[in-house]
Amino acid sequence: MSHVLIIGAGGVGSVVVHKCAQASEVFSQITLASRTLPKCEAIAASVKQRTGVTVAVEQVDADNVAETAALIRRIKPDLVLNVALPYQDLPLMDACLETGVDYLDTANYEPPDVAKFEYKWQWAYKERFAQANLMALLGSGFDPGVTNVYCAWAQKHHFDEIHTLDIIDCNAGDHGQHFATNFNPEINIREITQRGRYWEHGEWVETDPLSWSMNYDFPEGIGPKKCFLMYHEELESLVQNIKGLKRARFWMTFSENYLTHLRVLENVGMTRIDPVKYQGAEIVPLQFLKAVLPEPASLGPLTQGRTCIGCVFKGVKDGREKQLYVYNICSHEEAYREVGSQAISYTTGVPAMIGAMMMLKGLWKRPGVWNMEEFDPDPFMEALNQYGLPWQVVEL
Ligand code: NDP
Repeated sequence: MSHVLIIGAGGVGSVVVHKCAQASEVFSQITLASRTLPKCEAIAASVKQRTGVTVAVEQVDADNVAETAALIRRIKPDLVLNVALPYQDLPLMDACLETGVDYLDTANYEPPDVAKFEYKWQWAYKERFAQANLMALLGSGFDPGVTNVYCAWAQKHHFDEIHTLDIIDCNAGDHGQHFATNFNPEINIREITQRGRYWEHGEWVETDPLSWSMNYDFPEGIGPKKCFLMYHEELESLVQNIKGLKRARFWMTFSENYLTHLRVLENVGMTRIDPVKYQGAEIVPLQFLKAVLPEPASLGPLTQGRTCIGCVFKGVKDGREKQLYVYNICSHEEAYREVGSQAISYTTGVPAMIGAMMMLKGLWKRPGVWNMEEFDPDPFMEALNQYGLPWQVVEL
């Protein structure tokens, strides 16, 4: 019986709240707080209608540590679940330390003025969380998140040594919009326009943005799609925690239409993150672009098709070389029927709920700051099957 404080009433936040309400034996009290109160109220109304569970709502500016700490002191949650934006990670970790509450998020910190994400800022909290006997679980979404758990599970049950890892993220869905992103547009475009990076023989190799691609034939009728090499945050912790890795890469599918729009937006300066003067005021072009693009939460009723996200491992077991593919397929339409959101929000929100459940049940409990692959993958893998993200494993 626990009280969870969920921060961020966006696409992912909505799924987390619906899924926590479905597991009310663990989450007996749920509070949703965000910058815009009506968004919290709309989600609470949907949860009430679908599950009968009452969700408390609060307004908070999560950039303001004192304000969040005051909210935490007043409502006394057992866990803060951060599904606002990466910019809020550090202020929320500070508020948790100040008030003595455990922490979980789905994306690592990045400073607003530099498009660069890294774990170093959050890993720097390890000692302080450990000394306060508190736990922070980082990156409990799908990728990062489930992909890290797949790695720990493959390592535990299927390999003596994993030599190569390819994480492949395919969205074979279509929302019918000219251009829209499936999660927060500002964070999404910052990520995709960065230089590519992969790990090989103990060092990082850089590539020009989206300059490397491969065709991958996805299972269960999805078929071949073009995937582009990108840097993605889980690579940073996995190359440290999965011993013996010789190469680790991350790939994502993009349609020609998406890439053409992105190229035009970049060429005209709309993806810039430095402020420009406009009619006497300073605006950041990418933030303005976000304001005119569809909100990820609005894509739920429009999106059709499936996602397929998984890991391909090559390595050795009992002296024999083997190759394994572990993946999940998630339907946009089924996610929408169940919780009113498309599959990108769904595949992020379900693991965030499961991560919180692991912590609150005491199955994953260790003072300090941790990444997902540092815990026993088995209870998490079991919960994925139970709560809507069943996985498949095939030997290739
Ligand atoms: P949205 O933009 O839909 O939602 C973000 C929410 O956070 C909004 O409701 C926003 O409020 C709120 N928020 C922003 N700033 C503050 C603040 N200072 N104080 C309080 N609330 C704030 O994004 P998504 O739901 O798509 O994404 C949420 C998170 O999930 C992101 O960090 C994203 O990177 C991560 N993610 C992780 C994935 C994974 O697999 N690991 C995959 C996809 C996303 P307002 O509505 O007022 O703007």
